[in-house]
Amino acid sequence: MEVSASILLERILHDALDQLSTDVHLQVTDGNLHVQFRSSGQLVPFLSLPGHGESLIRRVKALSRMDVSESRIPQDGSFRYESETRVCDVRVASVPTVSGESVVMRLLPLTPPDISFETLGMSAVQSLCVKRMLRQPYGLILTVGPTGAGKTTTMYAMMTQLARWGRRVLSIEDPVESRLPDCQQMEVRERFGVTFDSGLKALLRQDPDVLMIGEVRDATTAHVALRAAISGHLVLTTAHAFDMVGAISRFVEFGIERTVLTDVLKGVIVQHLESKPCTACGGVGCDGCKGSGFERDLAPVFAVHEIDDNLSGLLASSAPIGQIRSQVSAVTLP
Ligand SMILES: [Zn+2]
Repeated sequence: MEVSASILLERILHDALDQLSTDVHLQVTDGNLHVQFRSSGQLVPFLSLPGHGESLIRRVKALSRMDVSESRIPQDGSFRYESETRVCDVRVASVPTVSGESVVMRLLPLTPPDISFETLGMSAVQSLCVKRMLRQPYGLILTVGPTGAGKTTTMYAMMTQLARWGRRVLSIEDPVESRLPDCQQMEVRERFGVTFDSGLKALLRQDPDVLMIGEVRDATTAHVALRAAISGHLVLTTAHAFDMVGAISRFVEFGIERTVLTDVLKGVIVQHLESKPCTACGGVGCDGCKGSGFERDLAPVFAVHEIDDNLSGLLASSAPIGQIRSQVSAVTLP
């Protein structure tokens, strides 16, 4: 069966983005085409087709403004892929190998996949709870966890939700990891004097409803963030801590008064990564999990705390941290 190269490419990119792949590998061996996707770091075969190899590579090269007639030297280029729901920049590199050409397409999506709180790993109850917190007109919402726990993804899901509700969402990040539709994202550029706190001050003059601050690293940023939250903006930020009480202590270290903080705090999302039992064998150990009983990828585990008067009172207490921690754990869900 003859498939046109453009339809084939469309199908490959569509499926690759669906599977959240970061790269697509096209290998031509004696004119035959082999396509692999890299997803979650792993290379997986997508399809093999007899023939088709050269016509597909020509199509990719033409789109990327590479020399279509040249297949003996490495080349690179790029193009933009647009479908009804997706926009993606595709960076292309080709090299000649002894059996045929090899082309790698790096996918850089401009619209993130549709992320809902439940697909991040929250329960239905937690997801509703987060949406209730986001409905607040002003205040502070913290996402807390160790580095690499997926805090940015959670922040992006919240920003996307708020933008969908028609709120004006601005951010200062270091760096911007993914461009979100309908959000105005600014990047820290210390060389040009754009820091978290100077960027934040500039964003406050842009009539925001929602401000996202990638991270609060110093006292100045903490104070500007608090003032913004008190003066009618919803402020989302992260803290490097392991639980809610630890996150509050970080702000106290930056000179923020406990009562000021807890008055304006609307919610805290705590997340960390945990290994999940293998879905194939339920933890007994099988070939799929190489006998470990666990899934290969760690999965985020969430605790979502909506701050009510009771919790706010406990968090504002000047009692020793250990005491606050045990009182808080008695009134919150694990
Ligand atoms: Zn298993």
